Amino acid sequence: MPRGSNQARIFLQELFQEQGGEQLLERLAPQTDDPPVSVAAGISITDRAVERRWKRITCAPGIRDVLLPSGGDVDHSVYEGNIENYIGRVMLPVGLAGPLRVNGLFAKGDYYLPLATTEAALVASYHRGATLLNRAGGCSALLLAEGVVRAPGFAFATARESGRFVTWVLENQDRIRAAAEATTRHGSLSDLRIQLTGNHVYLLFEYQTGDASGQNMATIATEAACALINEESPVHPEYSFVEANMSGDKKASALSFQNVRGRHVTAEATIAADLIERYLHTTPQHMTNYWRMSAMGGVLSGTIGVQGHYANGLAALYIACGQDAACISESAVGLTRFETRSDGLYASVTLPNLMVGTVGGGTGLPSQQACLALMGLSGSGKARALAEVCAGLVLAGELSIIGALAAGHFTRAHKKLARKRGTPHG
Ligand code: NAP
Repeated sequence: MPRGSNQARIFLQELFQEQGGEQLLERLAPQTDDPPVSVAAGISITDRAVERRWKRITCAPGIRDVLLPSGGDVDHSVYEGNIENYIGRVMLPVGLAGPLRVNGLFAKGDYYLPLATTEAALVASYHRGATLLNRAGGCSALLLAEGVVRAPGFAFATARESGRFVTWVLENQDRIRAAAEATTRHGSLSDLRIQLTGNHVYLLFEYQTGDASGQNMATIATEAACALINEESPVHPEYSFVEANMSGDKKASALSFQNVRGRHVTAEATIAADLIERYLHTTPQHMTNYWRMSAMGGVLSGTIGVQGHYANGLAALYIACGQDAACISESAVGLTRFETRSDGLYASVTLPNLMVGTVGGGTGLPSQQACLALMGLSGSGKARALAEVCAGLVLAGELSIIGALAAGHFTRAHKKLARKRGTPHG
């Protein structure tokens, strides 16, 4: 029996013994009497609306003052359009790593890396990687492709009907494109792919989304295209959905390396052995040994791609810069490669699904915009450069963590930086 199932059996047995079968079943049954009072829902962030929400909240004294400090100089209404049921803000510390020198197709220069996190050792690790890369002349970075997919699904009675539907879609691509593109000034439909499985059809609408990361843009445009399709197709689906879970939105998938999602970027650097020794206290050969073993570890554990910790730096930068943090699910898929060469260590990272934008979403909020501005990457015309800087950030992180593991310093660094004095373990 798998270990998890065995644990579940023991756990349930113990509970039944402790509480008795009847009591436990009652505990787990639906409770329809006295339902909880819902929070006061709504999009409004006026003082009155926020006050009304807090009036309905039952909590210990002091909690409100932490989440909604009085006398602050923040105009809370700036968050309207970014959140519902607003009750205040969660504070996060921001650390600055870098600057990192990026020699990219779109990013060219030295970029600060603002990282919002509560994980000690993270900023220090990326900063160390950035410092090492700078000593090697920085990293090269190339943005290779862009596209954001929405994948509506259409269900018919038979595969014959699916086939007729697909034929109509192919014949009417120009009109479908026009309907989608009428919803946006900066977005354009760059591809329309089809998957047919019996009586189900998935249409994969791929968009260029300018400087926006583009999930909303793609959804709104696809909804308009679907309205035309549902109205005018000679074969009517029995039912359809604007997204049928084939776009890869917010999940790592087998599509990751076959298609772009967001922006496909790669970054590389070759680092001399003496720099590896000075900054990471190990050798190119030993880092390659670690990389080879970790690559096999990734294969054995079935990861999509093979990488060390892209999610660490990306999540912290996404939160600081108003990106959709949930898109780390697909954005952190990638491939790290190390090679020992006569001139040192060759290292590269490739991220085929990087969802980033410099307009839209949370990028216009005050502190998030300030972090983008600190990088020189706020607003129109900057998203491609941001993607290349993200690749550089991830490369810095891979070098630092693999260096720490190769040198045997991984645990020591976390013990030193992440354990507060005075805690039980301190
Ligand atoms: P958005 O804020 O909905 O759209 C971007 C806006 O910026 C558009 O109104 C666009 O105008 C405008 N814009 C101005 N200058 C631009 C430029 N240079 N390039 C591109 N657009 C420009 O943002 P989004 O990126 O489409 O959506 C991101 C948000 O969607 C994230 O917060 C994410 O969490 C959320 N999201 C939504 C869904 C969904 O299905 N709805 C799913 C996941 C996540 P035009 O359109 O007229 O060009």
